[in-house]
Amino acid sequence: MTEEKSTSVRPKIVIVGGGAGGLELATRLGKSLGGRKADISLIDYSRTHIWKPLLHEVAAGTLDSYEDQLAYLAQASSNRFNFVLGRMNGLDRDNKRVRLAALTNAAGIEIIPERYQPYDLLVIAVGSICNDFGVKGVADYCMFLDTTEQAEQFQARMLEAFLRASAVGGKSEPGQLDIAIVGGGATGIELSAQLHQAIRLLKAYGLDGVEPTAMRIHLIEAAEQLLPGLPARISEATLTQLARLGIEVHLGERVNEVTASGVHTQNGHFIPAYTKVWAAGIKAPDFLAGIGGLETNQINQLVVRQTLQTTRDEDIFALGDCAACPWPEKNMMVPPRAQAAHQQANLVYENLQNKLSNQDLRDYRYRDYGSLVSLGKYSTVGNLMGYLLGQVMIEGFIARLVYLSLYKLHQLALFGTFRVALLAVSHVFRRTLRPRIKLH
Ligand SMILES: Cc1cc2nc3c(=O)[nH]c(=O)nc-3n(C[C@H](O)[C@H](O)[C@H](O)COP(=O)(O)OP(=O)(O)OC[C@H]3O[C@@H](n4cnc5c(N)ncnc54)[C@H](O)[C@@H]3O)c2cc1C
Repeated sequence: MTEEKSTSVRPKIVIVGGGAGGLELATRLGKSLGGRKADISLIDYSRTHIWKPLLHEVAAGTLDSYEDQLAYLAQASSNRFNFVLGRMNGLDRDNKRVRLAALTNAAGIEIIPERYQPYDLLVIAVGSICNDFGVKGVADYCMFLDTTEQAEQFQARMLEAFLRASAVGGKSEPGQLDIAIVGGGATGIELSAQLHQAIRLLKAYGLDGVEPTAMRIHLIEAAEQLLPGLPARISEATLTQLARLGIEVHLGERVNEVTASGVHTQNGHFIPAYTKVWAAGIKAPDFLAGIGGLETNQINQLVVRQTLQTTRDEDIFALGDCAACPWPEKNMMVPPRAQAAHQQANLVYENLQNKLSNQDLRDYRYRDYGSLVSLGKYSTVGNLMGYLLGQVMIEGFIARLVYLSLYKLHQLALFGTFRVALLAVSHVFRRTLRPRIKLH
């Protein structure tokens, strides 16, 4: 077991998880404090970052992950923070150090043994994973969209099914081409619309042995409406759009078992599907449950105060999907969304500096700017919230622009205005040069 020893007297700020929130935080801290006022380290088990809300596009093949991903090492070197490749699996609060699992390569050979990363201030931003709620067969037969690798596996599987059916002139076993998506929240809806688009693009690129209508897309939701928690008007507008696309929406159907051939629901229905995706709720990664004696809830999230410090340790902060942060105005918890992770990264950025200079810490207040659901090229629906606006439902082009602006905010936090403008220009060129769908 090795331990990194630091000879510097600068405070060590360690961020675990370089996602929507963690990478923005590491970049801002690196730029303002890195190497001079503090040593900033970012730990992630992946070598590259992709903004998680893009994963359904990677899964459908309408976005090539290589084009929108960023190498942590490159981001670290241009923003004065240190990138540590590793997977956190424990916490030693007495000695203020994070335990990292041994790092192995694809062949299972150990490259780096288990080790510890010391910290003075720690931020945990490890996001969330799908919650299967213990439903039988989900772990064995469903695919998930938690990581880029999983999204790529899904894309490869869909392409395989299409190639196979195309080669035999569209003849396939019942359900072999069908896709069942469990969870009628934003992820499930966005994935189903992207798949609809992807299937038509594959035909346009010559895989025309299969009629697009031969591939049925089922969206299964336990509640009586799509997007539970959002106003009924939005879920109705979404349902109308999905019905127009021919996506088969099953409402009020709670899945109680998944098998190799399909999905069984509590109402006794069976939906045949070779490919099943589980997108019904989240939990924080299991290793966080009770980690280092910190307070965690039933879905493994670290319970935090309004300052985003964990309840039992003022030197440990948590943000994003893995944090259970109260939303007092609504008497509920802040929802697991990219906009919350972005806002919380901004507040932790200030609070870490306040803590280093012994000033009072600020409280986090979630600002809900609304929720938007992208139906690929077909439409975008959702609501906007604001003090002046109240709550306004939007749809179509304006909604699409607002939806895209959330990703632009993330890019701005990582690259600054000039590089984001360059990226936008290069994106336009790339779109004209490459196929509109990943074909390999
Ligand atoms: C398909 C899809 C579509 C979505 N669409 C939207 C949307 O339209 N709008 C919206 O607001 N939200 C959306 N979300 C939710 C949004 O992606 C999350 O709320 C957001 O990414 C949370 O940010 P985060 O920083 O907490 O975690 P993440 O962005 O998930 O980042 C977590 C990071 O931690 C790393 N990590 C995890 N475990 C460890 C470990 N043990 N050690 C080291 N590193 C670790 C991971 O590699 C990752 O880089 C969507 C999610 C999905 C899956």
